[in-house]
Amino acid sequence: MSYIVLSRRYRPKSFNEIVGQKHVVTTLVNALQSDRVAHAYLFAGPRGVGKTSMARILSKALNCQKGTTDTPCNKCATCNSITNGNDIDVLEIDGASNRGIDEIRNIRQNVGYTPAVSKHKIYIIDEVHMLTKEAFNALLKTLEEPPEHVKFIFATTSPSRVPDTVQSRCQRFDFKNISIPDISDRLAQICKTENIAAEEEVLQSIAKYARGGLRDSESILDQLASFCHEKITLRDVYDIFGVVSEEKLSGLINSFTEKNPELSIEIFHGIMESGRDIEGFIDQLLLYIRDLLLVSVCKKQRDTIETVSGDLNLLRTQSSSFSPETLMYMFQVISEAKTKTRDLLQQKIYLEVLFVKLATMEDLRPLSSVLDKIEGMKKMFDGSAVNTGKAISISKVDVATPAKPEIQVKPSQDSVVFDKKASPDISLAETWNKAMIELQTKKKTTWALLKNARVLNIDDNEAIVEVPKNYLVHKERLEKPEEKRIIDGCLEKVTGKKIHVKFIVSKNGFKVVENKSSGHGVVQEGKSKKSDDIKNEPMVKKAIEFFDGSIVNVREEKG
Ligand SMILES: [Zn+2]
Repeated sequence: MSYIVLSRRYRPKSFNEIVGQKHVVTTLVNALQSDRVAHAYLFAGPRGVGKTSMARILSKALNCQKGTTDTPCNKCATCNSITNGNDIDVLEIDGASNRGIDEIRNIRQNVGYTPAVSKHKIYIIDEVHMLTKEAFNALLKTLEEPPEHVKFIFATTSPSRVPDTVQSRCQRFDFKNISIPDISDRLAQICKTENIAAEEEVLQSIAKYARGGLRDSESILDQLASFCHEKITLRDVYDIFGVVSEEKLSGLINSFTEKNPELSIEIFHGIMESGRDIEGFIDQLLLYIRDLLLVSVCKKQRDTIETVSGDLNLLRTQSSSFSPETLMYMFQVISEAKTKTRDLLQQKIYLEVLFVKLATMEDLRPLSSVLDKIEGMKKMFDGSAVNTGKAISISKVDVATPAKPEIQVKPSQDSVVFDKKASPDISLAETWNKAMIELQTKKKTTWALLKNARVLNIDDNEAIVEVPKNYLVHKERLEKPEEKRIIDGCLEKVTGKKIHVKFIVSKNGFKVVENKSSGHGVVQEGKSKKSDDIKNEPMVKKAIEFFDGSIVNVREEKG
């Protein structure tokens, strides 16, 4: 007797042998028990998950010589011939190789005849989406008015390509990928019956690399059993699939957390030298990162989450070293290795550079956590703000962007305060903007000369206005008494105070002015002693470092 491959020998023969499609089995068994079997079914789902097996079992259930049943006998001639795929009344058609309208016409001509032996004439059309448009149209006519004794079972891996008109006349079942534990359980049963010895993780690895396909898993087990004479090892699995060991993948990930680019490159080169396919390796690495991401974000289902990688504990430990943002970034840039180029050498170079980058970059943190951090800093500053002496405020005064953060610094102690009141600079900008609007209506040419300038400070007597250094001509004109008078008039109208405008020229963005009269001052960075002192305040240093900023403007506030 010739050898029958495992996947055929262990093909499920009855509903209770079907693995991982409980939802389909339950509905079909109920339909059989209540005699409500539809005349057409569409079985949709990935390859090797039991669609054809289900179609045959349903056919046996309908045609078993012992009568319609949810437990076909698997002994009668009809059951056997259906199992072997050569029953006279159950016709299996491969849609991929019989795409033509002729085959469907044959069906149409023959559906009228009663079945030769059994109760039903059953057409199983596999890969039905491959039929041509004309063939579908011909099929549709039969589906619209099917004879009582005819049943159709369509199977497809691509249901979206089956016309809606056909789908609407079928009862559709979506077959799922079979879970890794379900597959490895099934493989364990087979190993037991067949006396196949395998290392513990072997079956799970097979299930994993077969990506939820039971038939493929069985075929692989078959291959491994025939070339491993003793025990099947994990290494055999890696070789037969041409995959990279999980140890190597986790080692590569560890090299990123350890900030060890040399190790990253060493592991990557080792993988390439072992003759592994680079695209397969990229896929594996992406799956590994996907596992890390799931473990990191799905905290509630942490113990039940189905990961592709076997070692959940290791995944947990590793995932804690990365923020989800970093994992998503890694996923994106690694997958780009495949989309950017098909050239293998270029892919290798891309990955080398990328791995060095990943092993040297800092962990990415989400914006929300940065905001939290700022909030925390704010609290810290608030907490240390003891209400003693005068406060000096460091603020960015910019009419164009008036809502800049405001930090106030007390000079005597190392204390910095965030101003919780309405920002004075916003009111400064507001005052200035109002004056500018006033000016625009009063004398447009003056307004035009002034519109590129910006206000630095306004106190009871004086408004300090900065003119860009490439606007010196403007400054000269603005300084004419008649122009100044108009501007002063506008300021008075807005503030109710007699304020005189004073112009300064911007050198490096901002310029110093000491305003002694009011105690308010605008100080240029680096020039004033006050500014230097403040720069050296520990809390200010921290703030500058934290915001990656610089002191733009220091202003004293009345205690
Ligand atoms: Zn039977």
